[in-house]
Amino acid sequence: MSKREELEALFAEHGFDDFRWFEPRHVVIAEWVRMKCRFGCRDYGESATCPPNIPSLQECERFFLEYEEAVLFHFSKAVPKPEDRHAWTRSINKRLVKLERAVFIAGHQKAFVLFIDPCNLCEECAGTPADCRIPHNARPAPEAMGVDLFSTVRKCGYEIEVLSDYSQEMNRFGMLLVR
Ligand code: SF4
Repeated sequence: MSKREELEALFAEHGFDDFRWFEPRHVVIAEWVRMKCRFGCRDYGESATCPPNIPSLQECERFFLEYEEAVLFHFSKAVPKPEDRHAWTRSINKRLVKLERAVFIAGHQKAFVLFIDPCNLCEECAGTPADCRIPHNARPAPEAMGVDLFSTVRKCGYEIEVLSDYSQEMNRFGMLLVR
């Protein structure tokens, strides 16, 4: 069994069946993504895993270049009420952390996941890295790392569009950097 097949068996074990392999050097990092965090996000500075509590864009770029293989996981859902999305994304982020651990134990010491939205493992985020309640599990989202998710996801062959209403089906993406 190849390394990829072994990992895909782990993905299946953890209930992840919609994914694509990609080369991390193809991740698109863009200044505009960081600007959207800085200007326009009401949670700016309110999470240990979001800007400005996160490495610079240059460091993020170097981080992706240290990897040769990564996986993009796709999740979609429509929720009856906008606030319902948090419980859904929290449950997926928790599963992603468990998967990262399993991949690490399988011998991939560099395994690292990026969540499908800002870390919301806790019902209420403590707000700063020093106060983070679960620092060993807290992870950023790709956007927090400056990833232009629209361009990156399309390069991987998935479709993604701007939505105008929370009643529309969301397309969310998480990543696993492997080796
Ligand atoms: S683990 Fe909890 S406190 Fe830490 S960043 Fe995530 S939500 Fe915030």
